[in-house]
Amino acid sequence: MTVPPNQDDVKKNERTNYFNSPALDVSLAFPQATPASTFPPCASDYYQFDDLLTPEEQAMRLRVRKCMEKDVAPIMAEYWEKAEFPFQIIPKLGALRIAGGTIKGYGCPGLSITASAFATAELARVDASCSTFVLVHSSLAMLTIALCGSEAQKQKYLPSLAEFKTVACWGLTEPDYGSDASALRTTATKVEGGWILEGQKRWIGNSTFADVLVIFARNTTTNQINGFIIKKNAPGLAATKIENKIGLRIVQNGDILLNKVFVPDEERLPGVNSFQDTSKVLAVSRVMVAWQPIGLSMGVYDMCHRYLKERKQFGAPLAAFQINQEKLVRMLGNVQAMVLIGWRLCKLYEAGKMTPGHASMGKAWITLRARETVALGRELLGGNGILSDFLVAKAFGDLEPIYTFEGTYDINSLVTGREVTGIASFKPPASSQRSRL
Ligand SMILES: Cc1cc2nc3c(=O)[nH]c(=O)nc-3n(C[C@H](O)[C@H](O)[C@H](O)COP(=O)(O)OP(=O)(O)OC[C@H]3O[C@@H](n4cnc5c(N)ncnc54)[C@H](O)[C@@H]3O)c2cc1C
Repeated sequence: MTVPPNQDDVKKNERTNYFNSPALDVSLAFPQATPASTFPPCASDYYQFDDLLTPEEQAMRLRVRKCMEKDVAPIMAEYWEKAEFPFQIIPKLGALRIAGGTIKGYGCPGLSITASAFATAELARVDASCSTFVLVHSSLAMLTIALCGSEAQKQKYLPSLAEFKTVACWGLTEPDYGSDASALRTTATKVEGGWILEGQKRWIGNSTFADVLVIFARNTTTNQINGFIIKKNAPGLAATKIENKIGLRIVQNGDILLNKVFVPDEERLPGVNSFQDTSKVLAVSRVMVAWQPIGLSMGVYDMCHRYLKERKQFGAPLAAFQINQEKLVRMLGNVQAMVLIGWRLCKLYEAGKMTPGHASMGKAWITLRARETVALGRELLGGNGILSDFLVAKAFGDLEPIYTFEGTYDINSLVTGREVTGIASFKPPASSQRSRL
């Protein structure tokens, strides 16, 4: 005789299996709404900004979107949780032909800045760690080599970086010098045939596995900032992963130690002779950084738009409640305004009219609006708003470092403040630097 199982035991076992199974699909645990591994359709282009793009720019946008939705969306929550980098996506990103962005020649795609910006947004719409990985490699490291490198350096490094056969990082920030990076202390001392670099760098994205490291250091003879290219495994070079981040967990940020690293003369970037020379690079990269929160907010809106129609409470979809509609529309309005600012920055740049203040205000204001947008999204998803599987919690965390890097919100506001008032307010007067205690 078969004894029917005790229903209490069945329930207990189901619970045990549920909690013991690390691979449980979130769609089984929560069948009412589709997780972000199946990415929602794009619903955030409400004012049809696609019409502003050329056919080539539109094609690029769709190519990046398709790759991100198909190849990255299914794995991003898992890698974000593990804080590991999915190396298998690098060839797929290489095939998109986006690395090198606006750089012409040397195997680079020579895109318009608008195409590059929309590509950045499409990467960030699905995963902001992925867009940051590309941005550091392309808009910071590759662009520095393109704008400040010798002809030989461009020929040597750019073609394989453009194909993602090699990966680059860009090291400016130091443990003691973040916003105040122009005061950096890493030294470059001239010796026969090259330079000896000594010091530390902090937060450097991709640095734990980069093949090529662009590093800034202070020339001990001129006291000015110079730039250098260092190769992976150079004696005296060590990069240690920074653990326990709450955002951009897939990006491998490192602490770099430079212990008497020898850099041959031919690896010094001839175009970096002062801190001001980095601003040529930062002007473009800040526009790209501004497009990350735009894309990230689009993804959050798209996710909420689908979720509110799928999830029901009180017998109706969440989308039927007026308060939820107001939040959704506020998010949508923010996205439209962000795109307009980002788009205008691109056009000012293309016309040669963009100033550092324009780029800084764009980055600062867009990240501010994005913070409101992801916070509203987090509310709208209720409990699932704190799960990385439903994208919004992940995006909520990812936005925080974006708010802070490439100039914090405050520093970028002060850059624009200096431009519009003619008064620099970064450094407090000497009297306020003395302790009052
Ligand atoms: C995830 C991540 C990735 C990064 N990637 C890179 C990278 O690849 N390469 C790289 O070189 N760097 C990188 N950075 C460093 C980044 O650019 C710095 O974190 C940023 O410039 C801020 O510096 P800080 O963290 O030292 O903050 P701090 O400079 O210590 O600032 C702390 C606070 O004080 C405020 N503050 C500081 N000075 C002023 C002032 N004068 N007036 C008003 N407010 C002020 C700031 O706005 C901020 O709110 C990265 C950082 C993060 C978090």
